[in-house]
Amino acid sequence: MNVQKMNDLTEFSDEQKKYLEGFTSGLSIARSGGLGSSNSAAAAKPTTATTGPEALHDQARANTIAAAGKLVAEEKAKADKHPFEMWDEMRANAAAAKFPKGTDVFLYKYHGMFHVAPAQDSFMCRLRIAGGIMKSYQLRGVADIAEKFAGPFAHITTRANFQLREIPPANVIHVLTGLDDCGLTSKGAGADNIRNVTGSPTAGIDPQELIDTQPLCAEMHHYILNHREMYGLPRKFNIAFDGGGKVAALDDTNDIGFFAVTVGEGKSVPAGVYFRMRLGGITGHHDFARDCGIVIAPSDCVAVAEAVVRVFISEGDRTNRQKARMKYVLDRLGHDQYLKRVQALLSFPLVSLAESECEPRPAVAKHGHVDFHPQKQAGRVYVGILTPVGKLTCAQMHGLADIADKFGSGTIRLTVWQNLIISDIATENIDLVKAAIEAVGLSWKTNSIRNGLIACTGSAGCKFGASDTKANAMQIAEYVETRIQLDSPVNIHLTGCHHSCAQHYIGDIGLIAAKVDTSVNGDDEQVEGYHVHVGGGYGTEQGIAREVFRDVKAVDAPVLIEKMLRGYMANRADASESFHAFSNRLTVDELKEKCA
Ligand code: SF4
Repeated sequence: MNVQKMNDLTEFSDEQKKYLEGFTSGLSIARSGGLGSSNSAAAAKPTTATTGPEALHDQARANTIAAAGKLVAEEKAKADKHPFEMWDEMRANAAAAKFPKGTDVFLYKYHGMFHVAPAQDSFMCRLRIAGGIMKSYQLRGVADIAEKFAGPFAHITTRANFQLREIPPANVIHVLTGLDDCGLTSKGAGADNIRNVTGSPTAGIDPQELIDTQPLCAEMHHYILNHREMYGLPRKFNIAFDGGGKVAALDDTNDIGFFAVTVGEGKSVPAGVYFRMRLGGITGHHDFARDCGIVIAPSDCVAVAEAVVRVFISEGDRTNRQKARMKYVLDRLGHDQYLKRVQALLSFPLVSLAESECEPRPAVAKHGHVDFHPQKQAGRVYVGILTPVGKLTCAQMHGLADIADKFGSGTIRLTVWQNLIISDIATENIDLVKAAIEAVGLSWKTNSIRNGLIACTGSAGCKFGASDTKANAMQIAEYVETRIQLDSPVNIHLTGCHHSCAQHYIGDIGLIAAKVDTSVNGDDEQVEGYHVHVGGGYGTEQGIAREVFRDVKAVDAPVLIEKMLRGYMANRADASESFHAFSNRLTVDELKEKCA
């Protein structure tokens, strides 16, 4: 391990020792009982906890208390009982077909189990799949678990992952052990943990990639799984690796976004492929990750990520859930100071190099995750398959696993666009694969509306959702695709609430759900609807979308989206102007006039 071990005092640097002194005094104050009952849970922690994997977390809580901060309920729950020590309680609850109560609902999420009442009186289970890449036997396993123990389907998420839904309380243990049995896990997939590590979905097969990100995704994934201190952060945390391939990994929307770059001859570092690191992406809070001005050897990325997370553990806000993400630590410390803290934890120097000294990233194919594409391996192609905003039936999962085995290498690649890719298909089998995909009721054909259409769970399965995003997304697709054909890619994102799981702020068109006041037979009512934004993007199109239309009823959304796209086609500067460029060239008033 490159990072100095925080639980071994002999390895502490001077800075760390000084820091620990502050922590020890904070913890002493807490344990003296002089801080009031609101912090009693943390104050009651046994002293032994400060030397184990929880030491850094105990230290951060004690520092909060010493600074007269009031820990939120989630922090007290974490201090009281480690979620990975509640297996027996979970088994007992399952045997009695009971749901957890109180803060145990939060702690269950460490196991990837979300009790989603009142939206549904059942659990949702979110997996973690390193880089979104899995094998056919695992997909069959997911299908079988869904068939036996959950609703008979699975959703692909916007973190290239699977979620199972409609799990009765009696089946919780069956689902968790079933995932284990097929080499999958849901550990740390929810609550205050590092979520599924994403990477380039065409890793290892993309002709233009600079580096295969899959080994790094796997290394990061296993590092997290095997280091208990990497759980129970101040808030959730996202990490992505972009290898420069045709399909973007959206690294700039993550807390840590690593993106591969080539450095040519004659620079201050040896020529080769490195990663640059961006920090602080959280588009729901209107911020993208910002470049740190350094290049990192691929073999050092996981150690750097680990150090970034450790600083976040120490500095993240544990008193206010709204301000607990890493962005707010960066806002407070500044990137330079944050990076100094990271450097203090590393046994090798971080190397500065301006982004302008690196070669530009190879271009992204905005909808390159659909249709057939040649691989770097001669005679092989991969195919991106559309799903209805991520939903797959059990029969479809089995069918896709069969296709991957029969015509590919048994590899299935989930993408953040809620679709999937099957790779390693012999060119001569393309027509057979097309027929096989159609036989399972899915499509490989590029579709100007569905290619970039994503939706979060929404009100059908999430208590925060103000509208049924998935159903409304499909209504938009079915209405608009029969009326208008676009000749350039447009992404449409529907998200159910301000948590912005479908990242509406980076959509060409982004809809965030809202209850809309209306009148039905003279009575005031509220119906499902949206506020509509335009002009968001990522990478070279990076930007936060602007609101153009407010309080649009869900039933009116398909017609409005059609009008917006017609307005774009009729008013763009020329055929090469993208929707992104068009919607950023016009003012909001002009957009309202031309697109409604
Ligand atoms: Fe739920 Fe909101 Fe996330 Fe949608 S954006 S899945 S409604 S939390």
